[in-house]
Amino acid sequence: MMKNIKLKSCPFCGRKVKLDNEGESAWMISCKKCGAFVSSLNPYINNNEELIRYWNNRAKIKKEKKLKTCPFCGGKAKLYKDYDSVWTIECQKCGFWVDVLIIQYVDKKKDLIKYWNTRKEVNDGK
Ligand SMILES: [Zn+2]
Ligand SMILES: [Zn+2]
Repeated sequence: MMKNIKLKSCPFCGRKVKLDNEGESAWMISCKKCGAFVSSLNPYINNNEELIRYWNNRAKIKKEKKLKTCPFCGGKAKLYKDYDSVWTIECQKCGFWVDVLIIQYVDKKKDLIKYWNTRKEVNDGK
């Protein structure tokens, strides 16, 4: 069943993503290349079907002063240091986040901003 699901490519690096189980019943979509991921355990996502819809939805991107809006929901993004002093960018609307630890080849604040603001053409992940 999971094989028939079409997923759009990663909005940041344009690579293919994969769908995995996360625990017993939750699913996770993650990019094989950069490491960006979304799980159906995200409080803003209610179930696995919604996770697929969420991932495949691409919002119109607006360029705010520093950070582009969220690729999935179009919400405003915020840059901050989390409680472990890790630079994080989080969407204020859907809660999608990336940080310098999970994203490959990114370990500085300025690289994280550059990564977030890079948007690739959507394809079907082929
Ligand atoms: Zn990616
Ligand atoms: Zn969002």
